[in-house]
Amino acid sequence: MTQVEMTRSQATIDLFDQYVVPNYRRYPIALVRGEGSHVWDADGKKYLDLFPGWGCNILGYSPPAVVKAIQEQAARLIHVPNTWYIEQQGRFAEFLCSRSFGKAFFCNSGAEANEAAIKLARLHGSAAGKYRIITFEHGFHGRTFGALTATAQPKYHEGLGPMMAGFRYAKLNDLEGVRSLVDNETCAIMLEPVQGEGGVRIPDPVFLQALRDLCDERGMLLIFDEVQTGMGRTGTWFGYQQTGVMPDVMTMAKGLAGGVACGAMICRSEIAGDLKPGMHASTFGGNSLAMAAGLATGETIEREGLLEHVQDLAAEVLVYLKSLQQSLSIIQEVRVCGMMIGIELSIPATPAVGKCMDRGVLINATQSTVVRLLPALNISKADLFEGLEVIAGVLREMANET
Ligand SMILES: *Cc1c(COP(=O)(O)O)cnc(C)c1O
Repeated sequence: MTQVEMTRSQATIDLFDQYVVPNYRRYPIALVRGEGSHVWDADGKKYLDLFPGWGCNILGYSPPAVVKAIQEQAARLIHVPNTWYIEQQGRFAEFLCSRSFGKAFFCNSGAEANEAAIKLARLHGSAAGKYRIITFEHGFHGRTFGALTATAQPKYHEGLGPMMAGFRYAKLNDLEGVRSLVDNETCAIMLEPVQGEGGVRIPDPVFLQALRDLCDERGMLLIFDEVQTGMGRTGTWFGYQQTGVMPDVMTMAKGLAGGVACGAMICRSEIAGDLKPGMHASTFGGNSLAMAAGLATGETIEREGLLEHVQDLAAEVLVYLKSLQQSLSIIQEVRVCGMMIGIELSIPATPAVGKCMDRGVLINATQSTVVRLLPALNISKADLFEGLEVIAGVLREMANET
């Protein structure tokens, strides 16, 4: 490429080629500015993003209330360690727990939140000699060794063994399978209330209730990984509130602080004391900046009535996609839970990503055959359906090509 033809993104790409570890597959585009559900690349091209920040940008790009909270907090105090009481941490814990249950521990990511949950479950079970945790195929819990071992997908374990001891894998919705794996050393069952990376798979509520009963019966903790489903994503504050089943522990991250790194574990107050001083910590966890961003995110969701907005949108999206399915035989199934949308195809879904990108719409494909969307909770109906029309057009084109 000559200097003249070189795109502005290319300058950044060159730096990456030379200096950045190549552990991600990246599109050859640098995104430089965003507003709501729209984002611009370095060459000024505008995109409608139906998968902003892998779900982290739960209010879209740079939501004004979160920007303001970050600016004000940064000017006052960015970070104080957890050897002190931190005002914003107390207030954000109150915000989350008063809409769910229990007490909160803060960290910086989903994997880290799950590590806290795994440690709590083992500490809780240790007196009875329990340590084993049951997780589910197609689940995703993060990349640190505990969370990765909990992730029952062999492709993520390849070449990294031995994995952490003490995990067993079950099939979703197979209660007898779970029962056969539980023994006197099992301390917890852990799963996502809706599997995200696994393809927006929604467990049967009857199955979740049966897991709850089994945990009560056998003295095990039920852990919900709400890293993706938390913070209003599903149209209720937390995913478990759609299922009628209360977990003992839930973990959150992704959209929790509107795009700022933040994770949390919430547990029933009665078991919170199992994490004694010295047993677990996170240096940056619960820092003033992330907490201020989290509070502003939560208050915006509340003030703007976004849970109701998400429920309304989700109902319309389901009708739209079901009718699309009628006319397009490559669509096997559509799964919608709030602003978590999965379109399962009978053909590879990955080509849809590039075709949509060419038309200025950003989407994701997961598990080879599932188109996945995690639109911002505050996306307008017009923007969302404009994006869905583009996806429908692309899928029609792909159906004709096969
Ligand atoms: C993304 C995700 C994680 C991992 O979160 P990180 O912040 O990348 O560590 C864990 N669980 C679920 C359900 C997720 O979607």
